[in-house]
Amino acid sequence: MGLHTTVRFDPDMTTDSGAGHSLPERITAIQNMVRELSLGACVRSIAGGLAQQLLDSAGGDANAVTTGLSPDLSEGLFATNSSIQLIRCDGMQVAVGRAEHVPALIETGGTVADRVLLTAADVESGNPVLVVASTGGQDCSVHAEPNVLLAGAGFGRVDLDHTPVDVATIRSLADPAWRTRVTACIAEARLLIAHAAIELAQRVIAVTVDHVTRRAFRSGRLADLQVVRHRLVEATGRARVATEYAWSVTDDWERADPARSAAAVAMHVATAVGEIVESCAQLFGGSGYLTDNWISSARDDIAVAGLMLGDPDRLRDCLRDKRCGGRALPAATSRQHAADERLSADIWRDVAPEIASWDANSTLPREAYKLFGRAGLTGLTVPVEYGGQGLEQWQALSVLREAMRFGLTGLCTSIGAQSAIALPLLLAHGTNQQRETYVRGIVSGELVAGVALTEDSGGSDLVNTVRTRAEPVDSGWVINGQKAFVTNGPVADVILVLAYTNRAAGALGMTLFAVPAHAPGCQRLPPLSTTVLRSAPTGRVVLQDCQVPRDALIGSVGYGLAYVSRMFDVERLMVAALAAAAASACLEQTRDCLSAEDGLDPHIAAELIDAHLEAEVCDRFVERVVRHSTASGVARLDPLIAKSTVVDLAQHIIRRCRRIVGARILSREVLARLVADAAVFSVYGGTSETVRDAAAALILSGAARSAESSDE
Ligand SMILES: Cc1cc2nc3c(=O)[nH]c(=O)nc-3n(C[C@H](O)[C@H](O)[C@H](O)COP(=O)(O)OP(=O)(O)OC[C@H]3O[C@@H](n4cnc5c(N)ncnc54)[C@H](O)[C@@H]3O)c2cc1C
Repeated sequence: MGLHTTVRFDPDMTTDSGAGHSLPERITAIQNMVRELSLGACVRSIAGGLAQQLLDSAGGDANAVTTGLSPDLSEGLFATNSSIQLIRCDGMQVAVGRAEHVPALIETGGTVADRVLLTAADVESGNPVLVVASTGGQDCSVHAEPNVLLAGAGFGRVDLDHTPVDVATIRSLADPAWRTRVTACIAEARLLIAHAAIELAQRVIAVTVDHVTRRAFRSGRLADLQVVRHRLVEATGRARVATEYAWSVTDDWERADPARSAAAVAMHVATAVGEIVESCAQLFGGSGYLTDNWISSARDDIAVAGLMLGDPDRLRDCLRDKRCGGRALPAATSRQHAADERLSADIWRDVAPEIASWDANSTLPREAYKLFGRAGLTGLTVPVEYGGQGLEQWQALSVLREAMRFGLTGLCTSIGAQSAIALPLLLAHGTNQQRETYVRGIVSGELVAGVALTEDSGGSDLVNTVRTRAEPVDSGWVINGQKAFVTNGPVADVILVLAYTNRAAGALGMTLFAVPAHAPGCQRLPPLSTTVLRSAPTGRVVLQDCQVPRDALIGSVGYGLAYVSRMFDVERLMVAALAAAAASACLEQTRDCLSAEDGLDPHIAAELIDAHLEAEVCDRFVERVVRHSTASGVARLDPLIAKSTVVDLAQHIIRRCRRIVGARILSREVLARLVADAAVFSVYGGTSETVRDAAAALILSGAARSAESSDE
């Protein structure tokens, strides 16, 4: 029949059956298959691989077999309408019934897999069983299904009419060991399909970016439209976040419950790829869809992949917290964010009660900074030789994350302004003297630092809005200007001020100075009486003929903006991490609030499960990007994606919590503070609009270069 040569599933790469390939290697193989063949080919390969994996376990001869597992077992994966029964007839075990939409059954050219592995109801025992039937005899007919979607998947229908089954490989799913084995194999197949779907979504984005760029290049329009740029960033952001989430779950695969992990990835990916493809469809418009068959069939394939990934209600069931005695409360985020053991997380619990009085005065008392210094919190990433903890960035963020559980966004902002910008600037570009004085002082909590960039004329476009200027004089520099919204400004001992030293040179004419608060002409105004982040003292710094010595200069003249811009990546990741942590904290609060009550509306329960999943996704994305940034330097796009996509998702979760909790928020101090403070995540560190613009510029610039060169 030649089936063994025509039905090739490349099982070695898609299953763990004796091949010795790791899960990441198999995922990479699947991704290559999407790029070089189609999503359908991947599904065929995964289905075949799954069947062989199960048959291997059952001790069967694994060659050219496919699977038609019924929906109740696979929860949507390989969504087969199966009504197979296992009966005894003339002393033989035979199967009767029909299975539809079985992938990998039909090969181009009309050949079929020579055996099919199915779930059947064993009439004698009443239990579900796995059976393997040969497709070659008179008693088994196989039909190609006229599928237009997921071409290459090889869907077919199989009718079994008293077909003998391979008795040696019948396995009862009432046997817990077998059920666990089958569930684990299906979970892995689901993970592979999720990776394949994201890969196709990535390709759809690449084709869309190319389309947009070519049209823009020819007509001088389209890419100039902000709505187009922002839609592209949204799609790219969703894809980046989904990719990293899927990989993060893959990395934890051996340690986690595979069914839960696969359900979480499937739920997130199905939603994300659906949204990505719809966004790209909008960007393509009619012309693309009517003339570009690849993009239309990719959209259809992704829709089917979404169905295969599973029914959202069933997947949600896997994510429910079973410990709640059937009550529909979701599990708290499954991850452990262990703060470094050298630091006591108890400090947040200790200071949380003080927040109300600090809030009332819109400030942090000096004693608080000293307390944080003693606890090691003000120099988390600072090298040990300067008195810091020498932690990696991701470890430092996990420490601040703990603080968010108590609603301490203001406090984290105050500490973050020092740790994400002031200290890295001083460490990277300061003189030995500046490092000895300021870095050591800030780390111990004896000194407080602020960074003054923004002015009344705006903070997004510093080149055009900074008016502050510094003139050289014999004794050093004289600075004139006014800075606005300076975090820690009202209490700072040293303020890093960005000023023009050469207005005509634009971005290359800005210089950074470490201005001591006691310098003549430097005035810190009292903290703004704000409604948000009250415990982060924020205010104006006025510099009027402010005289600073020569050694106030940080780094070289003209490099100030370049130094600061490099720190924006760290700041953006910090803001995204705080936003993700705030979302998780809001969910925790909401859970506490609701668990005091009897019963929970099923719609709200479903919403909470979705929100928990999104919070986990945000968290893992930021953590991976930050870890990666330490290992190999930040990919420029990821901090921008974190600041836009993650902040958007987190704010959405927080709004959901506010709505679900309703009026009960009035008696929930921590939740109320988290909700109020969340608004700033889309402002500081770059407003959402400007961050999306910067991301779009990066995405489009690469594509524009290739469009230009191919049109020449
Ligand atoms: C809590 C908090 C703490 C802060 N701490 C500090 C600090 O320590 N030091 C400091 O220097 N600054 C600080 N800031 C200021 C912050 O950096 C600025 O608010 C931010 O950079 C945006 O500037 P802006 O508010 O002046 O808005 P603008 O730049 O005036 O922008 C106003 C609006 O126009 C939009 N916009 C601007 N340009 C574009 C564009 N090209 N396309 C589309 N839309 C655009 C923006 O998105 C925004 O919605 C802080 C702000 C907050 C809220």
